[in-house]
Amino acid sequence: MESWQELLRKKSIASLDALAARFGPEHFPEMERLRQAAENFEFRISPAMVDLIKSPDDPIWRQYVPTVQELEVQDGIVDSLNEDADSPVPNITHRYPDRALFLVSPVCAAYCRFCTRRRKVGDPEKIPMSQLESAFRYLEEHKEIRDVIMSGGDPLMLSDRRIDDILKRLRAIPHIEIIRIGSRVPCHLPERITPELCAILRNYHPLFINTHFNHPDELTPAAVKALGMLADAGIPLGCQTVLLKGVNDDPEVMKLLMQRLLQARVRPYYIYMCDQVAGAEHFRTTVEKGLEIIKALRGWTSGLAVPHFVIDAPGGGGKIPLLPEYVEAIEEDRVVLRNYAGKRYVWKQPQEAEVLVG
Ligand SMILES: *Cc1c(COP(=O)(O)O)cnc(C)c1O
Repeated sequence: MESWQELLRKKSIASLDALAARFGPEHFPEMERLRQAAENFEFRISPAMVDLIKSPDDPIWRQYVPTVQELEVQDGIVDSLNEDADSPVPNITHRYPDRALFLVSPVCAAYCRFCTRRRKVGDPEKIPMSQLESAFRYLEEHKEIRDVIMSGGDPLMLSDRRIDDILKRLRAIPHIEIIRIGSRVPCHLPERITPELCAILRNYHPLFINTHFNHPDELTPAAVKALGMLADAGIPLGCQTVLLKGVNDDPEVMKLLMQRLLQARVRPYYIYMCDQVAGAEHFRTTVEKGLEIIKALRGWTSGLAVPHFVIDAPGGGGKIPLLPEYVEAIEEDRVVLRNYAGKRYVWKQPQEAEVLVG
């Protein structure tokens, strides 16, 4: 059987010419400018994602195929989340009081054109694997860090041995209570989720994986199987979805995605507004659209299918939650509420204050 590394090498589409050969050159009228877009940011579509494209410009295609719109960068910010300013040593972003982001791999199985970290992902010089030692030392010295989030690139693109080494080193740090891995591999390259990998991961509990699915079609039988293997290894699974114009900016599509995730044993965790990244402006939609989606989920389907809707604030403000308005008024004696269907309800405030005075 071919290994996941061989599969990725042989069956991915990693050049515009290969893409045009497969889908027809008529879909690439501006090839020369497209080449520039593909040069600005790594291009690869993994085998599972190539198979999922039904027709050019469908929701899967849009996530991975470069467009000339990427060259219109006037509004975008190269490091919109200010991650580099909050980076005390290479590969670490320490923004919140008790947790830190740890970039452990520069590569992904497929490259999302809306990548928030497109300024460094795909470039081993910007996510240097030779400098993990200073990152480990930082985590060891900072006893307030009780939660480490492994990200990248995609941590599960590392070899089993490398993953084992990193997890062993993190687990040896007494103040690190939980470890998280952020990975789109269950979607992009489900063949990578092997019994051997699961056997390694299960040694390091409490370990959580937040994966990333954006469209219900992505929950293929192979992806569902990979997620099941991770869940069977005792790993709680979450999903961080990005709200993307032309991909999932539709309440019905999002509802189906959230329901399919639950069926695959994944608890939706976040829906993000697409960050203001240079080159990804064409993916952005309005905050109202996101609120409309949350409104269409809450109450209308399982509460487990309703993630937090957040904006990762530009400039390094961190994740800020947004909620549709369910509170009409908060008064001293009562609160006026609207339920999911828009019906009005009144809740009485406790009378303790008066009792004490009287
Ligand atoms: C998202 C993020 C985290 C984790 O945030 P949670 O809300 O705990 O999931 C931590 N550090 C950075 C820099 C982040 O962007």
